[in-house]
Formats: sequence, structure tokens, C-alpha cells
Amino acid sequence: MKHPVPHRISVDEAEALITARTMHWPAHRVALAQALGGILREDIHAERDQPPFDRVTMDGIAVAAAALAAGRRDFEPAGTQAAGAPALGIRHEGQCIAVMTGSVLPAGTDTVIPVERLAQRDGRTWLEAGYDARPGQFVHRRGSDHRQGDRLLAAGSRIGAPEMAILGVGGRSDVAVASPPSIALVSTGDELVEPGLPIEDWQIRSSNGLALGAALRRRGFSRISHALLRDDPQELQREIAALHASHDVLILSGGVSMGQFDHVPATLAALGVEAVFHKVLQRPGLPLWFGTSADGRPVFALPGNPVSSLVCLVRYVLPCLARGLGAAVQPTRRYRLGAAVETVAELGTFVPVRLEADDRDGTCAMPRLTNTSGDFTALGGTDGFVELPQGRQHFPAGFVARFFAW
Ligand code: AMP
Ligand code: MG
Repeated sequence: MKHPVPHRISVDEAEALITARTMHWPAHRVALAQALGGILREDIHAERDQPPFDRVTMDGIAVAAAALAAGRRDFEPAGTQAAGAPALGIRHEGQCIAVMTGSVLPAGTDTVIPVERLAQRDGRTWLEAGYDARPGQFVHRRGSDHRQGDRLLAAGSRIGAPEMAILGVGGRSDVAVASPPSIALVSTGDELVEPGLPIEDWQIRSSNGLALGAALRRRGFSRISHALLRDDPQELQREIAALHASHDVLILSGGVSMGQFDHVPATLAALGVEAVFHKVLQRPGLPLWFGTSADGRPVFALPGNPVSSLVCLVRYVLPCLARGLGAAVQPTRRYRLGAAVETVAELGTFVPVRLEADDRDGTCAMPRLTNTSGDFTALGGTDGFVELPQGRQHFPAGFVARFFAW
């Protein structure tokens, strides 16, 4: 049988086809307080040298090291240097200035003696007997962390707590971040009933929208709508057309297999979505379907099995969206298998795992084998899954595999 679209391709081929069609979402400027969790879309450069002046790092006194070298142990107090005040100065090497952590080093001084090493006697400040100061101590030199104009953050960085502080050092009150796309999640299936509604013995609780939505929200995608549709070609066509017109990304689950009620591929074709591939040599998730609209927007149709849909979202959809935001590619995490796994050699295999301490004081990925690809209750307490490549059947404990977090 001949297929009009690439069919039964490998995991790597599927990923390459999706990557080649990456859609780049625009950027917008936000106030710093709104930037947390976003993907930076500009390089951030230092506004000034850091520190911007020779900065005192201890409460105490500032003196000239030359005076100490000449044997001086007592100093005439000549003022107090507070943080946030312009530099004072000594007039001669017999003087000292009381300094506070974070203050400017006074002119003429280069060394700080901590307050714990000092005593006041006869209106003079004395060093503790036997105390030996290192010239230049407790001074954080101007520009020793970075220079004005140095690049502090690269476009593509994810903005977490340290990056927020660094943005502050950049000196601007706003920053360019990626605009996350709006996403329509669509669950399809005549048997599906939302939680909380009455349910018959032959019906199934709809859970994919919850799991997929959670995985997306955890990555900062908040513009998500969810719809539950019947396996009815007219309803599917009408509702999916409207959702596709009003969202940047369409993620469907269910209805992509070969059953008589699996209308999703035909519906998408009728809406002008070009099929890029259908079916990937993988378990779970073989029926995965991917296409793009004429203007390049991605459409993913995931198999309905709850494990399959979540695995496919994490393995293919999330990386595609991260690339679209301009996020820097994260290094792949790899862990040793904590126990042997047998697979079918023709299929790439995704195995849910829990990350655990191993007997070598490292971390291993302990497989959690599910009964079926729909046995999603076995996923509770797992951290993600490992990818076991196509082409072999036996993966011994200790095999190093790529890890994907839920
Ligand atoms: P499908 O891909 O439509 O053939 O669905 C495969 C299996 O996944 C069937 O047993 C469905 O009942 C189940 N399923 C499909 N969609 C969902 C969903 N949203 N929540 C829970 N189970 C689902
Ligand atoms: Mg179905």
C-alpha cells in the first residue's frame, strides 16, 4: 500500500521533519517583574563595571597598606564612609576612615581592617596586637566581576531567579521576551466524559486535556483552551476549523489510528492542513500525526492513549514549541537504567522512569513498566521517560539513555 505522506518513519526522522518546520513566535517587551519564566529574546549587556567602584566588603576601617608596612598600628579617625555616599579620603597615611560593607573605598586607602580587630583608645583606632593585614584585603575591585558592555545574558536564556537579578544589573526596566503561542487542546472521542459529570459503565473519563495542559503550563504556556469533541466528521470539521483559526498551535488527541471513527487526519486534510508524517516506529505512540497549515502553524494529532499522548507531547511538541520561542537548546540529560528492559527491536521505545539514587551514589532511571500503553495510573510518581533506540531488543541495567522529564 502506498502512502501519500511519510509513513512509519523513525523517531529521529520524525523529530527532524518537525524541526525543519519550526515556526518562530514573535517577541514583545515586558516590564522586568513580568519577565520571570520567559525566554529572553535579546542579549543583555552590563550597564556599568561591576562592582562600579572599589567596594568595601567588611565593616571596619580603611587605611593605606603603606602605613601598615611602615609599622603603624594606630590611626587617627578622619570620618565615616557609609554605603551610598560619595568617596571621602584621608589627608595622610596616619589617618583612617570608618567604612561599612558596600561603601566606596575612601581615596588614599587600599586596605580594610575588620571592626573585630580594632580597639579605640585615646581618641585613636588601634589594631589588635599581632594582627597582620594583607595589603588590599576586603576590597572588591571595580570591574573585577565584569566590565561595562560585557554580555551578561544571551538571547535564548530562560529567565529564572538569578537571571532576574542580572537583568536588573543590565539597567533597563523592560526586556524583550518570546510571546508564547496560544494553544488549542482538543480531546476527541465519543466515549469521553469530563470529570464531575455522570458516567456510564461503557464510558471513559477524559484525562488527556488535564495531563497535556499541565505539561504545557509547567513550561510557561498559559494561553491554552481545551475542547472535548465527538467522533463526528461534521462536528470535528466545524469545531476544529474554528479552533485552528483562532489559535497558533493545535494539539489534538485521539482519532488518529485506523479505526472506523478515527476521523482526525481526514478532517485536518479537509481544513487544508498539510500532513508532514503519519505513524512513527515507536512505542507507545505509533499513530502520531504531524502537519502544518499553509501559513506554517504546527498541528499535532496525538494518539489518544493517555501514556502515548503525554509521551508524544513531551518528546515532540514541547521541544518544537521551545525552539519556536527561541529557547537555547538544553543539553540532553542521560541516565543509566536501573534495571534491564526488553523492547521490540523495530521500534524506538519510551519507558516511564523514576529517578532514584543508585548504588554508586549517582542517579539512575528506574523503569516503571506499564501493563499497556493506556495504563497511565502506573505513571504516578514517575519523573519522565527514557528513550531506548530502535535497532536492538535488550537494554541491560546500566545502559545510558536519554531522559525526558514530564
Ligand atoms: P484513540 O486514539 O482515539 O483510538 O484512543 C485510544 C484510547 O485512548 C482509547 O481507549 C480512548 O478511550 C483513550 N482516550 C482517548 N482520548 C482520551 C482522553 N482524552 N482521556 C482519556 N483517555 C482517552
Ligand atoms: Mg478515539
